[in-house]
Amino acid sequence: MKPLELRFYGETILRKTAEPVAKFDDELRKFAEAMIVTMRDERGIGLAAPQVGESIQVIVALRMEDGDDIEVPAEVLVNPKVVFASKETWSYEEGCLCIPGVSASVIRPREVEVEYQDLEGNVRRVRSDKFFARILLHEIDHLNGVLFIDYLSSAQKSLIKPKLKQISQSLHLF
Ligand code: ZN
Repeated sequence: MKPLELRFYGETILRKTAEPVAKFDDELRKFAEAMIVTMRDERGIGLAAPQVGESIQVIVALRMEDGDDIEVPAEVLVNPKVVFASKETWSYEEGCLCIPGVSASVIRPREVEVEYQDLEGNVRRVRSDKFFARILLHEIDHLNGVLFIDYLSSAQKSLIKPKLKQISQSLHLF
């Protein structure tokens, strides 16, 4: 299966709220499979549908902790919603396939519980702490048009501003 084409910072789809999925059919399963292929191809640990040009509520994520091998199985979460987030937070360096070459420390809740549907439409819950929780929060943000750079301080933002400009301007070169 061929990897899907990534979208980059500056494209409006990354700022849109994604539509909930209503049909749990073969088309959805094929799309989720292609998302996993794309994530692995890009050496990513999570991917949200808008990042590959589909404004629908689907994310894929590796269930891993920091330092784990990225060959672990990928999870597919459809229509995911955060139903619990701990008050306790932690900071970690994040990056995004749509914002190449940019990384920064982001503060997020340490523990979350997410309700979602699997590819058959069954409602499920996953409770997770630390690294996997962070991946889920980053990807769910994508479904709401939020990027990790939105959390940065103005000092952090001014540091990455030239790089962001470069990424969004390079879109117009093709
Ligand atoms: Zn991302």
